[in-house]
Amino acid sequence: VASKETMGFQAEVKQLLQLMIHSLYSNKEIFLRELISNASDAADKLRFEGIAHPDWYGDDPELKIRVDFDKAARTISISDNGIGMSREEVINNLGTIARSGTKEFFSKLSGDQQKDAALIGQFGVGFYSAFIIADRITVETRRAGLPAADGVRWESDGSGEFTIESIDRPQRGTTITLHLREGEDDFLNSYKLKSIIRKYSDHISLPIQMRKEEWDEEKKEQVIKDELESINQSSALWARNKSEITEEQYNEFYKHLSHDYENPLCYSLNRVEGRNEFTQLLFVPSRAPFDLWDRNKRGGIKLYVKRIFIMDDAEKLMPMYLRFVTGVIDSADLPLNVSREILQESRDIKVIRESSTKRVLSMLEELANSDDEAKKEKYRTFWAQFGQVLKEGVGEDQANQERILKLLRFASTHTDSSEQTVSLAEYVARMKEGQDKIYYVTGETFNAAKNSPHLEIFRKKGVEVLLLSDRVDEWMLSFITEFDGKQLASVAKGGLDLGSLSDEKEKKEHEETEKQFKDLIDRMKKVLEDKAKDVRVTFRLTDSPACLIADENELSGNLLRMLKAAGQ
Ligand code: ADP
Ligand code: MG
Repeated sequence: VASKETMGFQAEVKQLLQLMIHSLYSNKEIFLRELISNASDAADKLRFEGIAHPDWYGDDPELKIRVDFDKAARTISISDNGIGMSREEVINNLGTIARSGTKEFFSKLSGDQQKDAALIGQFGVGFYSAFIIADRITVETRRAGLPAADGVRWESDGSGEFTIESIDRPQRGTTITLHLREGEDDFLNSYKLKSIIRKYSDHISLPIQMRKEEWDEEKKEQVIKDELESINQSSALWARNKSEITEEQYNEFYKHLSHDYENPLCYSLNRVEGRNEFTQLLFVPSRAPFDLWDRNKRGGIKLYVKRIFIMDDAEKLMPMYLRFVTGVIDSADLPLNVSREILQESRDIKVIRESSTKRVLSMLEELANSDDEAKKEKYRTFWAQFGQVLKEGVGEDQANQERILKLLRFASTHTDSSEQTVSLAEYVARMKEGQDKIYYVTGETFNAAKNSPHLEIFRKKGVEVLLLSDRVDEWMLSFITEFDGKQLASVAKGGLDLGSLSDEKEKKEHEETEKQFKDLIDRMKKVLEDKAKDVRVTFRLTDSPACLIADENELSGNLLRMLKAAGQ
């Protein structure tokens, strides 16, 4: 059993390794962040599983992470006393990429280094990033609860295969040893390692320790002592005093949570007290993840109960239309053994979700309504990345519909640009004297909407029309009855009544014209008997000779086309 086995990496791992080594080379220090992040996750898992198995702690109850280096051997090692891995887990976790969306991820790689580096960041670089600076990695681990003889050693040079063998390992948890590539000796330096740890991992909630280094007067050099010191603050970021948390710390914590490469667009930390006590730390990313539209995509909220990690992707904590939000909820009320099933029913969870929803909407409002250029720009970024998802909220979250409507942005004939920048409030402020409706046109594409013949009379009269061409628009519109007391009206529907926008003289002219064409209209009605419900003289066109319209109570042409395409 103790014999050494050689196994191959999954094809995707080989591909990822190649890419990573080449595209992340300029950012190689992130390996330490990734390995510390994994060690911290392993401690979280032990805390959670340890609730049911207190004996797993043995005589080693203080969870911690340790970073060592050896100048002579040219190695760096990261150790933890977390959950550890069984042989099977090592093979699965360090030989494959199990994450959902892997296929899609690889299909998006462009071959362009810069773009791919950003994408790898989004995907989460993880354990394999250590191969950027190491040409050989040794992992020794033992799962909590298993006997010492069930230790495992995994080793690989990152080129396609790894070996695995059984070892004796008295202590539980994992030690990862990096054998540095030629030329990476800069990392064999305690000052350098400490500053990387402080930069990326200060928010980690357990101590990250290194051996102390001190000046020795006799030897006239820095010597490494046996004594250990903690490099980070080692308290959960969200439990700290707001005034003590720097922007950089928020950013790094966000990257740890989300696997994102970029800073978040905005964040919010709140402690809610009273009948329900919980802390929420919520982030809005700057960029949509590659799997935003994946129906199986997991939510981005981690649930903790009194600092103990309970579960990832607690989707009940955030409505679907805010699925891009990442963060932590730490509840003081929920039981530690809370399950997904209990979450479904829980009153506490409902309160937390409602509160978190309102927090996110406030964050977005703050950006959207700000006079500050930088914040406005952030809202434009947000809208471009997540606007289509937020639109789902109009139907999904009727309780907050009014707030969501104010956050919507549209393309319109006022700008004639495909960029969605016009709010309903701006539209209303520009409405013509006598105009009582908010007009819109829908189309399969922006250009189809923009060039719709239905717009001619509106353009002529200088009445603004919203140009809608996102897939969700028709669906969303069916939930909006009015905004600011004004109905929304399609320019393509029914007997278009421009109401008091037409003057008396025009009305007279129209009646004259209708009389004049009565014979022609009657003949056309006969000819089109089975094809058209009605034929009318229209005044809405200025250049086109004719257009098709839907009945007031009917589905619009665009929705009909969509339903047909969907096979209905
Ligand atoms: P991720 O952390 O996003 O899952 P990684 O590539 O960083 O991806 O790690 C892959 C997996 O390897 C982890 O999910 C975990 O199961 C396992 N793993 C990595 N490091 C450790 C560790 N120190 N202790 C226990 N398991 C680990
Ligand atoms: Mg990881």
